[in-house]
Amino acid sequence: MIKSIVIIGAGLAGATATRYLRAQGYQGKIHLVGEELHVAYDRPSLSKDTLSGKMVEPPAILDPYWYASADIDLHLGVRVTGIDVVNHQVLFESGDILAYDRLLIATGVRARRMAITGSELAGIHTLRDRADSQALRQALEPGQSLVIVGGGLIGCEVATTAINAGAHVTILEAGDELLLRVLGRTTGAWCRNELERLGVRVELNAQAAHFEGEGHVHAVVCADGRRIAANTVLVSIGAEPADELARAAGIACERGVVVDATGASSCLGVFAAGDVAAWPLRSGEQRSLETYLNSHMQAETAAAAMLGKSIPALQVPTSWTEIAGHRIQMVGDIEGPGEVVLRGNVENGQPLVQFRVLDGRVEAATAINAPKDFSVATRLVADHIPVSATKLQDASSNLRDFMKAKAKAKA
Ligand code: NAD
Repeated sequence: MIKSIVIIGAGLAGATATRYLRAQGYQGKIHLVGEELHVAYDRPSLSKDTLSGKMVEPPAILDPYWYASADIDLHLGVRVTGIDVVNHQVLFESGDILAYDRLLIATGVRARRMAITGSELAGIHTLRDRADSQALRQALEPGQSLVIVGGGLIGCEVATTAINAGAHVTILEAGDELLLRVLGRTTGAWCRNELERLGVRVELNAQAAHFEGEGHVHAVVCADGRRIAANTVLVSIGAEPADELARAAGIACERGVVVDATGASSCLGVFAAGDVAAWPLRSGEQRSLETYLNSHMQAETAAAAMLGKSIPALQVPTSWTEIAGHRIQMVGDIEGPGEVVLRGNVENGQPLVQFRVLDGRVEAATAINAPKDFSVATRLVADHIPVSATKLQDASSNLRDFMKAKAKAKA
């Protein structure tokens, strides 16, 4: 019988798993352990409304009063230093020990840092938690020069917020386009144009080589000699799974805790979910997805598995972002084999959906300002519904017709 579940990591995945366990009727102990002093909050707002000051604090994922009402043992502001998988114990810095019947590792990711000359200077930030967002907010005064190293999701979201706050903003991207990893080349180029239209300077193929300054940063110098003055620097060059506890415990890890499609790790009784989990994808790959929606789904799947209900859930990466005033949503990997089909024309101010179609099925889609079409696109991808490129392209057609046709063919 399961009497004690310990969850390491009190962020979105940890909180979601906790709620799911209680919703399923589990009445045993739940210990939710977090390094930060706060209960789980909405990280997407850290680069947007929390950073701009529009919101004083990021919204909580669950009502802070819920934890006590659901009899959750919250351990906040404490560090786990080890997992003893033989004796089923979690060890704390304080010397305390917690025994578990099931353990969920939901420790998330950390911001990658740069190990180049000047990295220790004041004024160089990363953005992962609310303290980071608050520190960066104080530096975003009108007229200040912000240099963002890394033109991915954080870089482009912060560039939007900072330019709207009146800062001078430059993005230095090592690759030859922004946002290639998640949005692909076409949407990445479109976002770059939109950011430039707002006044953001974008430098591509720019490899930051060192930071200049005396005590405080005052410039970033690239390998090819480009030098950009800066009062503040944000380093947003990707994330690294916080899997060191698992690795030290002998649990299989490969850029994240390796789990099966139920969240079970290589070690009996130990599960992982959220950004730290290298989870199997429907495409056949296995990796950490670092998205809100997938973390949520993984947390519920792993919580069910901890209670003995195995509901394997191969993942399809699904996410959204807000860049230069546009809502962009993505499902699947947009770069890959097959044909690219466009629906709409964003140049004319219309919504645009880009599909990647392979063998008559939509494998992936990105949508710019097209939430309705996107919600149908996610179903087309998830259910592998047959489509025709001609009809996908026709913005006057209803995408739901593909679903109806499949249902009819089944009946
Ligand atoms: P990212 O992977 O989205 O982007 C990193 C960018 O930095 C890439 O474009 C990469 O080419 C570039 N880069 C790498 N090394 C560089 C270097 N030395 N110099 C210049 N550029 C370099 O990562 P991120 O933006 O740092 O975000 C961190 C994590 O947070 C990611 O996992 C991301 O998915 C997640 N996140 C998600 C959302 C969302 O879903 N809307 C928003 C923010 C953050």
